[in-house]
Amino acid sequence: MRLLGSLLILPLLVVNGRLAAQVSKAAKGVVPNRAPLQANAYNPLPLGSIEPRGWLRNQLEIQAAGLTGHLGEFWSDVGPNSGWLGGTGEAWERGPYYLDGLLPLAYELNDPALIRKAKQWVDWTLTHQQADGEIGPASNDDWWPRMVMLKVLTQYEEVTGDARVIPVMQKYFAYELRELPNRPLRDWGKYRWQDNVYSVLWLYNRTGDNSLLGLAKLLHSQGYDWEAQFANFKYTSKETREKLGLEPHQLPSEAAMQTHGVNNAMALKVAPVWWLVSGELPDRSGLAHQLAMLDKYHGLPNGMFSGDEHFAGRDPSQGIELCAVVETMFSLEQAFAILGDSHLADRLEKVTFNALPGTLSNDMWSHQYDQQPNQIACTRAPRPWSTNGPDSNLFGLEPNFGCCTANLHQGWPKFVSALWMATPGGGLVATAYAPNEVHTRLNGQYISIEEETQYPFRGEVRLKVHASGKSGFPLLLRVPAWASSASVQVNQTPPSVVKQANIRNGFYSLRRDWKDGDTVLVSFPMRPRTSHWYHDSIVFESGPVVFSLPLNGKWSELKSYAEKSADWQITPTAPWNFGVEVGECDATIREEPVGAVPFDVQHPAVSMEIKGRRLPQWKDEDNSAGPLPLSPVMSKEPLQSLRLIPYGSAKLRVTAFPFLSDPSRCGANKEVAVSSDR
Ligand SMILES: [Zn+2]
Repeated sequence: MRLLGSLLILPLLVVNGRLAAQVSKAAKGVVPNRAPLQANAYNPLPLGSIEPRGWLRNQLEIQAAGLTGHLGEFWSDVGPNSGWLGGTGEAWERGPYYLDGLLPLAYELNDPALIRKAKQWVDWTLTHQQADGEIGPASNDDWWPRMVMLKVLTQYEEVTGDARVIPVMQKYFAYELRELPNRPLRDWGKYRWQDNVYSVLWLYNRTGDNSLLGLAKLLHSQGYDWEAQFANFKYTSKETREKLGLEPHQLPSEAAMQTHGVNNAMALKVAPVWWLVSGELPDRSGLAHQLAMLDKYHGLPNGMFSGDEHFAGRDPSQGIELCAVVETMFSLEQAFAILGDSHLADRLEKVTFNALPGTLSNDMWSHQYDQQPNQIACTRAPRPWSTNGPDSNLFGLEPNFGCCTANLHQGWPKFVSALWMATPGGGLVATAYAPNEVHTRLNGQYISIEEETQYPFRGEVRLKVHASGKSGFPLLLRVPAWASSASVQVNQTPPSVVKQANIRNGFYSLRRDWKDGDTVLVSFPMRPRTSHWYHDSIVFESGPVVFSLPLNGKWSELKSYAEKSADWQITPTAPWNFGVEVGECDATIREEPVGAVPFDVQHPAVSMEIKGRRLPQWKDEDNSAGPLPLSPVMSKEPLQSLRLIPYGSAKLRVTAFPFLSDPSRCGANKEVAVSSDR
């Protein structure tokens, strides 16, 4: 039986016109985990509960007007002849990947044309199930692409309540349970089994059918043991084709699968998802260790680990693939819901506000395959990738390979879906901050909260509660680990500093009887800070934003496809090789209005001024910034001001700098406060 489940129009209660207009949006409550599964720390709200506002809405509208809204019109892999629409075209992962982002985007923007487009794909899958239960194109029987379509179906059911979804999934999972012993998981599916389990558990929570737990265990037993890989982690250096035994036109070797960036990004949800079934402590703590290993050996300053396309060490000239960025985000969103660890939400924000926009063009008509934290040119040329080709950092339609073209769409919309979650105590938790409005029912009562903020560019967040009557529930506010202090102001009371003793596991709980119109102003002062990375290089940050030196560059078109779709290269027209002064007290922040394009190189919403000197000894190599000189470094070049902007805005950039041996102007021998991410 579904808990709180049906599409209710509450017999309201019209406190004001606003509530009446919004009430139908509070379509469904959450579905908690069913015994014997472990309980989530927080329960995700169904798709459609959270609407983007402010700069975030602009970003989603840019996405809808860009590749996501138009891809099928000229890229045949997700066009009308797709195997997932009954055609004879691409019938593997690209259709499901595309839908996994198109569908939430369409419903979050409530865009009828996009909803029609997404629904056409869902309808085909729901109406073409085979007699034995198989779904998807008959031209292949690979388990993997179906794992993605199942995630699409769960989101679609949550937002529409379409009664066809659950029976189709029941029949498919019964088929999978029968078939897997004869046709076990192989290649991609074997390494991505946890995404299959995710949907199996989603259905179990709605039906209570015990055979689904049997299926989850079977998938686990056939899948790759990621936790064992990280318990005894042997992939501690950069991979090469030779080391991995990669042969052209053959499926990757086992070692290649195990060091594959996207596989590892998806696998960040393995331990938490499996803990729901096993209840074993090592599964609960597995992710923290996994992230520690990735950071130690492959960590990059944009919140990601290197994977271009395989593990590549910590040098900031190494890259990470866009698929790995969006899959890391989805894994962190799921892992946070299960474990409730605020550090996972900190990392989610870091990846979302830096690595994601940093690899997409302003208009979202082009993207990279691989991005580099130190990215001094995006040109068709060999680079020090572990295994990728010369097109990998172009901004284009399908540079290097088309997987990211299909998969990039889930990034922003799923982040919107995760901004708020429900607490077991009948409250709400602010997972991550960005402008939005959440609609839900708590203890049977309709609630919405408007969140006005320019976060991550500013540290103030204003929440306005709309309730149909007095409503007592806890509001959990995440206090980011970077925040040295936080203050909260409720209505007209004076702001009060949040005492450390009142922050539990990274959250401050505000419990009161809320009434319509109550406001909460939360403030996290953002100050420049530095962190240390590869070769002791320095990275400047403020709040969740990583700062980079933007390099002037010339965009030139290499090939045009359709409408605004083209491949572009960017060649630098400005020097890039600087060493910097490390004194944070010299770094000054300047706030600018958040523009129509939130992450724009011309109009960054915030900038930071620092000082540095050219480093003639730091040269380019392999069409990238050459090896980072070990800090501290000497330079006799003149001291000059450098204006850093958000990483996501700077498409050509230097992020990790050597630091100068000059005494900081904060004062010689001053101990500089350095925070290390790990
Ligand atoms: Zn990709």
